[in-house]
Amino acid sequence: MLWTRPRHFVVFLLTMEMLSVPGFTASFVNAPAPVGSDWLEFAILALGATVHIQLTHRQEERRRNRTKTVLIDLTAVWVFPATLVLPATLAVLLVVLIRFQRWFTARRPAHHFVFSSIAHGLAAALANLTYTAMSPQDWTTLTASGSLREFGLVLVTAAVYEGVQIVYVGGILALGSPSPTVRTVLGSKTDNLLEAITTGLGAVTAVLVVIMPPAVAIMAVVTVVFNRLAEIDQLQDAVVTDPKTGLLNMRGWTESAERALNRVRRAGSTLSVLMVDLDHFKWINDTFGHPAGDDVLAAVANALSSVTRPADVVGRFGGEEFLLLLPDADTSAAELAAERIRTTIAGLRIPTTDKRGAQATISGRTASIGVAVFPRHADHLDGLLQAADTAVYEAKESGRNRVSFASVPS
Ligand code: GH3
Ligand code: MG
Ligand code: MG
Repeated sequence: MLWTRPRHFVVFLLTMEMLSVPGFTASFVNAPAPVGSDWLEFAILALGATVHIQLTHRQEERRRNRTKTVLIDLTAVWVFPATLVLPATLAVLLVVLIRFQRWFTARRPAHHFVFSSIAHGLAAALANLTYTAMSPQDWTTLTASGSLREFGLVLVTAAVYEGVQIVYVGGILALGSPSPTVRTVLGSKTDNLLEAITTGLGAVTAVLVVIMPPAVAIMAVVTVVFNRLAEIDQLQDAVVTDPKTGLLNMRGWTESAERALNRVRRAGSTLSVLMVDLDHFKWINDTFGHPAGDDVLAAVANALSSVTRPADVVGRFGGEEFLLLLPDADTSAAELAAERIRTTIAGLRIPTTDKRGAQATISGRTASIGVAVFPRHADHLDGLLQAADTAVYEAKESGRNRVSFASVPS
């Protein structure tokens, strides 16, 4: 499967895998031979990781099936402490042990899985190399002020640990996706918060394993529960997201739109609602097949997100209709935005496949856009949607590929 990927993707993957060899070598050469207490700490972390993985198998499978972009691996709770308290060899051995157990839930292509395993292992090895190079103190004899310096070292180590993974995993996601965005490459705000918390919990685990090893059992419970919380967060996202386009679905759009409308109303400002309906969309399905139709929907959604501002609320109304709410946009601002959207859609060239599965490009597709402005056309959301919808029909009637404004109610 690897060889079917784009050239630069394969080159990046193989180069980064080769680059990891000197990284592993440097940290292994540097590592002291494990002694009895190292093996004991290794056993504790390995046991904790195994409990965590085995008790979250099912849930992790569900979570992975839903995630299309970055996947935060909560096992950093076990790997990060290993980079701090164990020789590099044992830290990497722990990664191998964890990845071996993960293979059964990962459901990723083998080259993908091997690559991210190497990224994990290398992150651990280089973090360990950095940490030991800073000559850390023995934690069992730390004073309060001495612990401040040690904490600083832990933070630096965490930065290296995260940095290596961002370069490897972010790089491969950027190259492997046809239209990478910051979000698909680096993950959402929540993903990153989750990652930071996981690494933070890993630092706590490190302290426990050195100072009070039996208390690591608490971390095993925490990680299992935490895994559960991560799933809830994803489910919440799923409730308001349209899976086909990644835009807000109607429920999510309405929630955000109502909030925006309230803000605008309080501020005595204005806003515009744009309804975008693709022209002769059925023709695409009939000519190229439904998968091609879906590619067009995804490309249009992507274009809508990229030509709008972060405060704009972009959603899929259903079928081949999209909705945008532009806060503070009056009639002339809305007209500019609608025209920009119309020309952007008309200029899209969308790579897809035809009914026989052969490569095809769809271009020259157009859209009709209806615009309603608050408070001019209506003073609540339903009324604005109604007005924008009527305007779309007018745009269709007068020839499509155009922007039409709602008429002022008499
Ligand atoms: P008009 O210019 O009048 O808007 O023509 P149209 O063909 O775009 O409009 P019509 O409402 O007749 O057809 C919309 C089509 O969109 C019909 C439906 O099969 C298709 N459609 C709706 N949802 C999806 C989807 O999720 N994927 C695909 N591929 N097609 C969809
Ligand atoms: Mg329609
Ligand atoms: Mg249509």
